Amino acid sequence: MRLVVAGSGIVGAACAFEASGLGADVTLIDAGLPGQATAAGAGIICPWSTRLDDPAWYDFACAAAREYPPLVAGLADLGEADVSYRQVGALLITDGDGRPDQLSQEVRRIEARRAAAPEIGQVQALSGPEAQRLFPPLAPGSAAVYIAGAARVDGRRLAAALIRAAASRGTVIRTGQATLACRPGRAVGVVLDGELIEADAVVAATGAWTTAFLAPAGVPVAVTPQRGQIVHISLGSADTSRWPVVLPAASGHYLLAFDDSRVVAGATRETGAGFDFRVTPAGLAEVLAQALAVAPGLGSGTYLETRVGFRPAGPDIRPLLGPVPGLDGLVVATGLGATGLTMGPLAGKVAARAALGLAPDIDLAPFSPVRAA
Ligand SMILES: Cc1cc2nc3c(=O)[nH]c(=O)nc-3n(C[C@H](O)[C@H](O)[C@H](O)COP(=O)(O)OP(=O)(O)OC[C@H]3O[C@@H](n4cnc5c(N)ncnc54)[C@H](O)[C@@H]3O)c2cc1C
Repeated sequence: MRLVVAGSGIVGAACAFEASGLGADVTLIDAGLPGQATAAGAGIICPWSTRLDDPAWYDFACAAAREYPPLVAGLADLGEADVSYRQVGALLITDGDGRPDQLSQEVRRIEARRAAAPEIGQVQALSGPEAQRLFPPLAPGSAAVYIAGAARVDGRRLAAALIRAAASRGTVIRTGQATLACRPGRAVGVVLDGELIEADAVVAATGAWTTAFLAPAGVPVAVTPQRGQIVHISLGSADTSRWPVVLPAASGHYLLAFDDSRVVAGATRETGAGFDFRVTPAGLAEVLAQALAVAPGLGSGTYLETRVGFRPAGPDIRPLLGPVPGLDGLVVATGLGATGLTMGPLAGKVAARAALGLAPDIDLAPFSPVRAA
């Protein structure tokens, strides 16, 4: 079985890893376009605190979060020992000045989800000083709900590890802009630098660029880029390796930390900015103002960089995932929006199985790639 995977963000990387593990001859192609979402994404994995009411999305996101520990362990067995994934917990900073009744209500809301998702772990209300002990730059008095199962991952490191592991299983890695090649009713491969790479199936893991990739097939998949600007700050020699993710309920912005004394403050959500790969003064001001309002202690850190990425936004928050009706040999795997580092590994795995003609482990009906297009 010959499989071409177009796009090697988190989805394409996971897809190639899975498909090569299942014995397919995989070619993984990436154009290296500026604004890959995986390279900019924050990397928070905490679907359980959501207030979004979409059971299909929620179930998929929870299943994806659940799959992380075995995936990370499997990669470690293949020599990819540190992909930066760590269950550091999350501090959910509620509205209402952390009133005890509000915190308990929030604890109950999240705990009610634990029966179906035990990986949520311990959920408890923390006082301001307790929360600040876990994330020292926080403003004093930031009472919070702590969710122990929340995790973070660096998308760059995870995708790179998946690609290396896929390559060790025989995946061929190519660079360049792939163009979908079709005959009536069937995808037959891609054209890369004038060469037709024939395949029994093609997976479109092309993120925010998927509408353009599918254009030659006339497939009306509605994906648009949502620009995100996200700031990285160094805190010198502080040991940030176990700091939790900070999720202020009021703003939709957030903070998280990685091992190298690095705090990441995100992010703008700019719909309509197109593929405009720039850091803007307004974007920077928004992200920094929100970050410093929650964690004024970051103000004395060192500004490192601002990353820009294009989230692949579909017609709603659900992934666009599965075979395309009426066009054999084509599987779409995108539309993961703001939670694609959470869902990407599972989406890639599901896409690989669909492309190889294996029965999906989940009902793909809610994720039809051509819905409402
Ligand atoms: C600022 C920001 C913060 C985020 N934070 C989080 C978070 O905390 N938690 C979370 O779960 N998610 C987060 N996300 C979302 C997540 O990053 C994305 O949903 C996810 O990375 C999308 O992965 P992807 O593989 O679909 O697309 P991408 O990572 O964008 O990869 C698509 C790839 O396709 C390639 N490509 C496109 N067209 C072609 C072609 N014709 N030929 C070859 N290659 C092609 C591109 O070069 C690109 O490398 C965040 C995103 C951003 C931008």
